[in-house]
Amino acid sequence: MWFEINVPIEIGPTEDGLSLRIQWTKEHESVFSPRELRLACPCAGCVDEFTGEKILSEEQVHQNIYPLSIEYVGNYAIQFSWSDGHNTGIYSFDLLRSMCSCDICSSN
Ligand SMILES: [Zn+2]
Ligand SMILES: [Zn+2]
Repeated sequence: MWFEINVPIEIGPTEDGLSLRIQWTKEHESVFSPRELRLACPCAGCVDEFTGEKILSEEQVHQNIYPLSIEYVGNYAIQFSWSDGHNTGIYSFDLLRSMCSCDICSSN
C-alpha cells in the first residue's frame, strides 16, 4: 500500500552551519533558521491544544537559539533539544514541509 507521507532523504546543517537543511527530494529542499523552528514548536506548552493558539511569544525565544541535538521520532517526525532547555516539541515532517518557504512552495 502506498502512503503519501513526507519523509526527507537527508537532514543536516547548511554549509555555513547556521541553519537546518531538509532535503525532501533531489529537487526540493527546505532551509530553516533554528529560531524559526523553535518559534514553530507545536508542543502543548507552546501552542494551546484546544484553540490552536500560540502561547509562545517571539520575545521568549533568544535570537541565538540553537539545537543541541536532533532525533528522529519514528519515521514521521524529528525532535529537537534546544539550547534553552526546551525539548517537548515533536515536529512532524508534514509540519516541516508545510513551513517550507522555498520559491516553489511560497508561490503556491
Ligand atoms: Zn514547545
Ligand atoms: Zn519548498
